[in-house]
Amino acid sequence: MARPQKSPSTRREAHVGGVPIRSLPKVSLHDHLDGGVRASTVFELAGEAGISLPVQSARELGEWFAEQAASDSLVDYLKTFELTVSVMQSADALTRIAREFVEDLANDGVVYGEVRWAPEQHTDAGLTLEDAVQAVQDGIDEAEEASDASGRSIRVNQILSALRQGDRSYEIAQLALDFRDEGVVGFDLAGPEDGFPPSRHRDALDLLAGEFFPVTLHAGEAAGPDSIRGALLDGRALRLGHGVRIAEDLEQVETEGDEVHVRFGDLARWVRDREVALELSPTSNLGTGAIAAWGDRIEDHPFDLLYQLGFCVTVNTDNRLMSRTTLTREIARLVEAFDYDIDDVLQFQLNAAAATFLPVEQREELIDLITDGFDR
Ligand SMILES: [Zn+2]
Repeated sequence: MARPQKSPSTRREAHVGGVPIRSLPKVSLHDHLDGGVRASTVFELAGEAGISLPVQSARELGEWFAEQAASDSLVDYLKTFELTVSVMQSADALTRIAREFVEDLANDGVVYGEVRWAPEQHTDAGLTLEDAVQAVQDGIDEAEEASDASGRSIRVNQILSALRQGDRSYEIAQLALDFRDEGVVGFDLAGPEDGFPPSRHRDALDLLAGEFFPVTLHAGEAAGPDSIRGALLDGRALRLGHGVRIAEDLEQVETEGDEVHVRFGDLARWVRDREVALELSPTSNLGTGAIAAWGDRIEDHPFDLLYQLGFCVTVNTDNRLMSRTTLTREIARLVEAFDYDIDDVLQFQLNAAAATFLPVEQREELIDLITDGFDR
Protein backbone atom coordinates (compact mmCIF):
# COMPACT_ATOMS: atom_id res chain seq x y z
CA MET A 1 0.00 0.00 0.00
CA ALA A 2 1.21 3.50 -0.81
CA ARG A 3 2.55 5.54 2.07
CA PRO A 4 0.50 8.53 3.14
CA GLN A 5 1.58 11.71 1.44
CA LYS A 6 3.39 14.10 3.75
CA SER A 7 1.13 17.03 4.38
CA PRO A 8 2.53 20.50 5.09
CA SER A 9 1.25 20.44 8.67
CA THR A 10 3.26 17.37 9.63
CA ARG A 11 6.57 19.00 8.71
CA ARG A 12 6.36 21.55 11.50
CA GLU A 13 3.83 20.58 14.15
CA ALA A 14 1.34 23.41 14.75
CA HIS A 15 0.34 24.16 18.35
CA VAL A 16 -2.32 26.07 20.22
CA GLY A 17 -1.72 26.86 23.89
CA GLY A 18 1.27 24.50 23.87
CA VAL A 19 -0.82 21.56 22.59
CA PRO A 20 -0.27 20.03 19.14
CA ILE A 21 -3.47 20.80 17.17
CA ARG A 22 -3.20 17.42 15.49
CA SER A 23 -3.62 15.66 18.86
CA LEU A 24 -6.92 17.44 19.61
CA PRO A 25 -10.18 15.62 18.74
CA LYS A 26 -11.74 17.28 15.70
CA VAL A 27 -14.85 17.11 13.49
CA SER A 28 -14.80 17.47 9.70
CA LEU A 29 -18.12 18.43 8.09
CA HIS A 30 -17.15 19.57 4.60
CA ASP A 31 -14.61 17.31 2.96
CA HIS A 32 -14.91 16.10 -0.67
CA LEU A 33 -13.86 12.51 -1.44
CA ASP A 34 -12.61 13.39 -4.93
CA GLY A 35 -10.77 16.40 -3.48
CA GLY A 36 -9.04 14.41 -0.74
CA VAL A 37 -7.37 11.58 -2.66
CA ARG A 38 -3.68 11.00 -1.99
CA ALA A 39 -1.56 12.19 -4.93
CA SER A 40 0.41 8.94 -4.69
CA THR A 41 -2.82 6.96 -5.13
CA VAL A 42 -3.92 9.02 -8.13
CA PHE A 43 -0.46 8.44 -9.63
CA GLU A 44 -0.63 4.69 -9.09
CA LEU A 45 -4.23 4.21 -10.26
CA ALA A 46 -3.71 6.40 -13.34
CA GLY A 47 -0.68 4.27 -14.26
CA GLU A 48 -2.72 1.07 -13.94
CA ALA A 49 -5.58 2.50 -16.00
CA GLY A 50 -3.29 3.91 -18.71
CA ILE A 51 -4.42 7.48 -18.03
CA SER A 52 -1.73 9.91 -19.16
CA LEU A 53 -0.39 12.29 -16.51
CA PRO A 54 1.19 15.73 -16.88
CA VAL A 55 4.13 14.71 -14.62
CA GLN A 56 6.56 11.84 -13.97
CA SER A 57 6.29 11.20 -10.22
CA ALA A 58 3.78 11.14 -7.37
CA ARG A 59 5.60 14.01 -5.68
CA GLU A 60 5.38 16.18 -8.79
CA LEU A 61 1.74 15.24 -9.12
CA GLY A 62 1.04 16.61 -5.62
CA GLU A 63 2.65 19.89 -6.68
CA TRP A 64 0.74 19.90 -9.97
CA PHE A 65 -2.59 19.64 -8.11
CA ALA A 66 -1.68 22.59 -5.90
CA GLU A 67 -0.43 24.71 -8.82
CA GLN A 68 -3.48 24.05 -10.98
CA ALA A 69 -5.77 24.82 -8.07
CA ALA A 70 -3.97 28.09 -7.35
CA SER A 71 -3.84 29.23 -10.98
CA ASP A 72 -6.89 31.52 -10.87
CA SER A 73 -8.23 29.63 -13.88
CA LEU A 74 -11.44 27.72 -13.33
CA VAL A 75 -10.58 25.48 -16.29
CA ASP A 76 -7.24 24.50 -14.71
CA TYR A 77 -8.94 23.96 -11.36
CA LEU A 78 -11.61 21.70 -12.86
CA LYS A 79 -8.90 19.65 -14.61
CA THR A 80 -7.71 18.49 -11.20
CA PHE A 81 -11.13 17.00 -10.42
CA GLU A 82 -11.40 15.47 -13.88
CA LEU A 83 -8.20 13.59 -13.09
CA THR A 84 -9.17 12.37 -9.61
CA VAL A 85 -12.66 11.38 -10.76
CA SER A 86 -11.19 9.49 -13.74
CA VAL A 87 -9.33 7.11 -11.41
CA MET A 88 -12.42 6.60 -9.22
CA GLN A 89 -14.56 4.54 -11.61
CA SER A 90 -14.25 1.03 -10.17
CA ALA A 91 -15.51 -0.41 -6.91
CA ASP A 92 -11.95 -1.35 -5.89
CA ALA A 93 -10.66 2.18 -6.49
CA LEU A 94 -13.56 3.76 -4.60
CA THR A 95 -13.10 1.40 -1.67
CA ARG A 96 -9.37 2.05 -1.51
CA ILE A 97 -9.74 5.82 -1.81
CA ALA A 98 -12.48 5.94 0.85
CA ARG A 99 -10.33 3.80 3.17
CA GLU A 100 -7.27 6.01 2.72
CA PHE A 101 -9.41 9.14 3.10
CA VAL A 102 -10.60 7.96 6.51
CA GLU A 103 -7.06 6.86 7.50
CA ASP A 104 -5.76 10.33 6.69
CA LEU A 105 -8.50 11.96 8.76
CA ALA A 106 -7.78 9.66 11.72
CA ASN A 107 -4.06 10.47 11.48
CA ASP A 108 -4.98 14.15 11.62
CA GLY A 109 -6.93 13.67 14.86
CA VAL A 110 -10.40 13.77 13.33
CA VAL A 111 -12.79 11.67 15.43
CA TYR A 112 -15.90 12.17 13.32
CA GLY A 113 -16.26 13.15 9.67
CA GLU A 114 -18.89 13.49 6.98
CA VAL A 115 -17.45 12.83 3.52
CA ARG A 116 -19.30 14.14 0.49
CA TRP A 117 -19.10 13.04 -3.11
CA ALA A 118 -21.28 12.81 -6.22
CA PRO A 119 -22.11 9.19 -7.14
CA GLU A 120 -23.34 10.23 -10.61
CA GLN A 121 -19.72 11.04 -11.54
CA HIS A 122 -18.55 7.49 -10.85
CA THR A 123 -20.61 5.37 -13.26
CA ASP A 124 -18.54 5.86 -16.46
CA ALA A 125 -17.10 2.34 -16.33
CA GLY A 126 -20.43 0.68 -15.66
CA LEU A 127 -20.81 0.89 -11.87
CA THR A 128 -24.39 1.38 -10.71
CA LEU A 129 -25.10 4.23 -8.30
CA GLU A 130 -25.86 1.67 -5.58
CA ASP A 131 -22.60 -0.22 -6.18
CA ALA A 132 -20.64 3.02 -6.00
CA VAL A 133 -22.17 4.02 -2.66
CA GLN A 134 -21.59 0.52 -1.30
CA ALA A 135 -17.96 0.56 -2.48
CA VAL A 136 -17.30 3.82 -0.62
CA GLN A 137 -19.07 2.44 2.45
CA ASP A 138 -16.88 -0.68 2.37
CA GLY A 139 -13.76 1.50 2.45
CA ILE A 140 -15.12 3.55 5.33
CA ASP A 141 -16.03 0.38 7.27
CA GLU A 142 -12.54 -1.09 6.78
CA ALA A 143 -10.83 2.08 7.96
CA GLU A 144 -13.12 2.49 10.96
CA GLU A 145 -12.38 -1.06 12.05
CA ALA A 146 -8.62 -0.54 11.65
CA SER A 147 -8.85 2.74 13.58
CA ASP A 148 -10.38 0.95 16.57
CA ALA A 149 -7.46 -1.50 16.57
CA SER A 150 -4.92 1.33 16.36
CA GLY A 151 -6.40 3.29 19.27
CA ARG A 152 -7.26 6.33 17.11
CA SER A 153 -10.96 5.63 16.64
CA ILE A 154 -12.87 7.51 14.00
CA ARG A 155 -16.43 7.38 12.65
CA VAL A 156 -17.35 8.65 9.19
CA ASN A 157 -20.68 8.95 7.37
CA GLN A 158 -21.49 9.85 3.79
CA ILE A 159 -23.23 12.88 2.32
CA LEU A 160 -24.37 12.30 -1.26
CA SER A 161 -24.01 15.29 -3.56
CA ALA A 162 -26.05 15.80 -6.72
CA LEU A 163 -24.68 18.11 -9.41
CA ARG A 164 -26.50 21.43 -9.67
CA GLN A 165 -25.97 21.58 -13.44
CA GLY A 166 -27.18 18.00 -13.87
CA ASP A 167 -30.65 16.46 -13.92
CA ARG A 168 -30.18 13.47 -11.62
CA SER A 169 -30.87 15.08 -8.25
CA TYR A 170 -34.14 13.21 -7.69
CA GLU A 171 -32.37 9.90 -8.31
CA ILE A 172 -29.55 10.88 -5.94
CA ALA A 173 -32.04 11.98 -3.27
CA GLN A 174 -33.76 8.59 -3.59
CA LEU A 175 -30.35 6.88 -3.39
CA ALA A 176 -29.52 8.77 -0.19
CA LEU A 177 -32.84 7.64 1.32
CA ASP A 178 -32.16 4.03 0.27
CA PHE A 179 -28.87 4.13 2.19
CA ARG A 180 -30.31 6.10 5.09
CA ASP A 181 -29.46 3.58 7.78
CA GLU A 182 -26.46 2.20 5.89
CA GLY A 183 -24.01 5.08 6.27
CA VAL A 184 -25.58 7.98 4.37
CA VAL A 185 -26.67 10.84 6.63
CA GLY A 186 -27.14 13.81 4.32
CA PHE A 187 -27.71 15.29 0.88
CA ASP A 188 -25.87 18.16 -0.86
CA LEU A 189 -25.93 20.07 -4.11
CA ALA A 190 -22.47 20.72 -5.59
CA GLY A 191 -21.26 22.27 -8.83
CA PRO A 192 -21.77 25.77 -10.27
CA GLU A 193 -23.75 27.78 -7.75
CA ASP A 194 -24.39 30.82 -9.90
CA GLY A 195 -27.24 30.20 -12.36
CA PHE A 196 -28.19 26.81 -10.93
CA PRO A 197 -30.33 27.58 -7.87
CA PRO A 198 -31.82 24.93 -5.58
CA SER A 199 -35.26 25.70 -7.07
CA ARG A 200 -34.09 23.74 -10.17
CA HIS A 201 -34.04 20.67 -7.91
CA ARG A 202 -37.38 21.20 -6.20
CA ASP A 203 -38.58 17.59 -6.69
CA ALA A 204 -35.48 16.18 -5.00
CA LEU A 205 -35.55 18.70 -2.17
CA ASP A 206 -39.30 18.20 -1.58
CA LEU A 207 -38.80 14.45 -1.47
CA LEU A 208 -36.06 14.79 1.16
CA ALA A 209 -38.03 17.30 3.22
CA GLY A 210 -41.04 14.98 3.17
CA GLU A 211 -38.85 12.17 4.50
CA PHE A 212 -37.20 14.46 7.09
CA PHE A 213 -33.75 13.78 5.68
CA PRO A 214 -30.95 16.26 6.48
CA VAL A 215 -29.69 18.59 3.79
CA THR A 216 -26.62 20.83 3.59
CA LEU A 217 -26.15 22.84 0.41
CA HIS A 218 -23.20 24.64 -1.13
CA ALA A 219 -24.32 28.27 -0.94
CA GLY A 220 -22.72 31.63 -0.31
CA GLU A 221 -19.44 30.55 -1.92
CA ALA A 222 -19.61 31.41 -5.64
CA ALA A 223 -22.80 33.47 -5.20
CA GLY A 224 -24.12 35.85 -2.57
CA PRO A 225 -27.00 36.13 -0.10
CA ASP A 226 -29.70 35.26 -2.68
CA SER A 227 -28.13 31.84 -3.08
CA ILE A 228 -28.18 31.35 0.68
CA ARG A 229 -31.84 32.40 0.70
CA GLY A 230 -32.54 29.71 -1.93
CA ALA A 231 -30.68 27.07 0.08
CA LEU A 232 -32.76 27.84 3.17
CA LEU A 233 -36.14 28.35 1.49
CA ASP A 234 -36.09 25.82 -1.37
CA GLY A 235 -33.50 23.46 0.09
CA ARG A 236 -34.53 23.67 3.75
CA ALA A 237 -30.79 23.33 4.38
CA LEU A 238 -29.76 22.73 7.98
CA ARG A 239 -26.18 23.81 7.22
CA LEU A 240 -24.52 25.94 4.56
CA GLY A 241 -21.62 24.67 2.44
CA HIS A 242 -19.26 27.55 3.21
CA GLY A 243 -22.03 30.18 3.52
CA VAL A 244 -19.23 32.70 3.95
CA ARG A 245 -20.98 35.33 1.87
CA ILE A 246 -23.67 35.64 4.55
CA ALA A 247 -21.30 38.39 5.70
CA GLU A 248 -22.56 40.43 2.72
CA ASP A 249 -25.85 40.73 4.61
CA LEU A 250 -24.06 42.54 7.45
CA GLU A 251 -23.47 46.23 7.38
CA GLN A 252 -20.63 47.60 9.46
CA VAL A 253 -21.54 50.95 10.93
CA GLU A 254 -18.64 52.82 12.51
CA THR A 255 -19.40 54.69 15.72
CA GLU A 256 -17.27 56.68 18.20
CA GLY A 257 -13.69 55.65 18.68
CA ASP A 258 -12.80 52.22 17.36
CA GLU A 259 -16.08 50.65 18.42
CA VAL A 260 -17.73 49.04 15.41
CA HIS A 261 -21.42 48.27 15.27
CA VAL A 262 -22.92 45.84 12.83
CA ARG A 263 -26.38 46.03 11.35
CA PHE A 264 -27.91 42.63 10.51
CA GLY A 265 -30.03 41.91 7.46
CA ASP A 266 -32.98 39.58 8.13
CA LEU A 267 -31.19 36.69 6.43
CA ALA A 268 -28.00 37.09 8.46
CA ARG A 269 -30.06 37.40 11.62
CA TRP A 270 -31.91 34.18 10.82
CA VAL A 271 -28.70 32.25 10.08
CA ARG A 272 -27.10 33.46 13.31
CA ASP A 273 -30.11 33.16 15.61
CA ARG A 274 -31.21 29.76 14.29
CA GLU A 275 -27.57 28.58 14.57
CA VAL A 276 -27.35 27.40 10.98
CA ALA A 277 -23.80 26.04 10.84
CA LEU A 278 -21.40 27.66 8.37
CA GLU A 279 -19.01 25.10 6.86
CA LEU A 280 -16.17 27.60 6.40
CA SER A 281 -13.00 26.43 4.65
CA PRO A 282 -10.37 29.20 4.95
CA THR A 283 -7.76 28.09 2.38
CA SER A 284 -10.35 27.03 -0.16
CA ASN A 285 -12.39 30.21 0.35
CA LEU A 286 -9.25 32.23 -0.47
CA GLY A 287 -8.45 30.10 -3.51
CA THR A 288 -11.92 30.22 -5.07
CA GLY A 289 -12.32 33.96 -4.55
CA ALA A 290 -15.31 33.44 -2.23
CA ILE A 291 -13.96 36.12 0.11
CA ALA A 292 -12.62 38.44 -2.60
CA ALA A 293 -14.92 41.23 -1.34
CA TRP A 294 -12.91 41.28 1.91
CA GLY A 295 -9.39 40.74 0.60
CA ASP A 296 -6.94 38.06 -0.44
CA ARG A 297 -5.17 37.17 2.79
CA ILE A 298 -6.26 34.76 5.49
CA GLU A 299 -6.47 37.76 7.88
CA ASP A 300 -9.13 39.23 5.57
CA HIS A 301 -11.42 36.19 5.93
CA PRO A 302 -14.70 37.18 7.64
CA PHE A 303 -14.35 34.04 9.80
CA ASP A 304 -13.46 36.09 12.86
CA LEU A 305 -16.18 38.69 12.27
CA LEU A 306 -18.77 35.91 12.01
CA TYR A 307 -17.39 34.17 15.11
CA GLN A 308 -17.37 37.36 17.19
CA LEU A 309 -20.95 38.07 16.14
CA GLY A 310 -22.08 34.66 17.40
CA PHE A 311 -22.54 32.72 14.16
CA CYS A 312 -22.13 28.95 14.36
CA VAL A 313 -18.75 28.79 12.60
CA THR A 314 -17.00 25.51 11.82
CA VAL A 315 -13.58 24.87 10.27
CA ASN A 316 -13.26 22.62 7.23
CA THR A 317 -10.84 21.60 4.50
CA ASP A 318 -13.12 21.29 1.42
CA ASN A 319 -10.45 19.75 -0.85
CA ARG A 320 -7.35 18.60 1.01
CA LEU A 321 -5.44 17.56 -2.11
CA MET A 322 -6.00 20.75 -4.13
CA SER A 323 -5.55 23.07 -1.14
CA ARG A 324 -2.60 20.98 0.17
CA THR A 325 -4.14 21.13 3.59
CA THR A 326 -5.45 19.23 6.58
CA LEU A 327 -7.96 20.19 9.26
CA THR A 328 -4.99 20.78 11.59
CA ARG A 329 -3.47 23.20 9.11
CA GLU A 330 -6.74 25.10 8.59
CA ILE A 331 -7.08 25.57 12.35
CA ALA A 332 -3.41 26.56 12.60
CA ARG A 333 -3.86 29.24 9.94
CA LEU A 334 -6.83 30.70 11.86
CA VAL A 335 -4.99 30.55 15.20
CA GLU A 336 -2.11 32.47 13.66
CA ALA A 337 -4.28 35.02 11.83
CA PHE A 338 -6.70 35.79 14.67
CA ASP A 339 -4.69 34.88 17.76
CA TYR A 340 -7.19 32.24 18.88
CA ASP A 341 -6.57 30.21 22.03
CA ILE A 342 -7.46 26.62 22.78
CA ASP A 343 -10.95 27.57 24.06
CA ASP A 344 -11.74 29.13 20.68
CA VAL A 345 -10.59 25.98 18.90
CA LEU A 346 -12.73 23.91 21.30
CA GLN A 347 -15.73 26.10 20.46
CA PHE A 348 -15.28 25.48 16.71
CA GLN A 349 -15.23 21.73 17.35
CA LEU A 350 -18.29 21.85 19.62
CA ASN A 351 -20.12 23.87 16.95
CA ALA A 352 -19.26 21.22 14.37
CA ALA A 353 -20.21 18.33 16.65
CA ALA A 354 -23.61 19.88 17.35
CA ALA A 355 -24.16 20.45 13.62
CA THR A 356 -23.39 16.89 12.49
CA PHE A 357 -26.21 14.88 10.97
CA LEU A 358 -25.96 12.28 13.76
CA PRO A 359 -28.87 11.45 16.06
CA VAL A 360 -28.81 13.58 19.19
CA GLU A 361 -27.58 10.77 21.47
CA GLN A 362 -24.51 10.31 19.29
CA ARG A 363 -23.97 14.05 19.05
CA GLU A 364 -23.91 14.22 22.85
CA GLU A 365 -21.37 11.39 22.99
CA LEU A 366 -19.25 13.23 20.44
CA ILE A 367 -19.43 16.44 22.44
CA ASP A 368 -18.30 14.54 25.56
CA LEU A 369 -15.45 12.93 23.64
CA ILE A 370 -14.25 16.31 22.37
CA THR A 371 -14.59 18.04 25.73
CA ASP A 372 -12.62 15.25 27.44
CA GLY A 373 -9.95 15.35 24.74
CA PHE A 374 -9.46 19.09 25.15
CA ASP A 375 -9.41 18.78 28.95
CA ARG A 376 -6.52 16.35 28.73
ZN1 LIG B 1 -17.29 22.00 -1.20
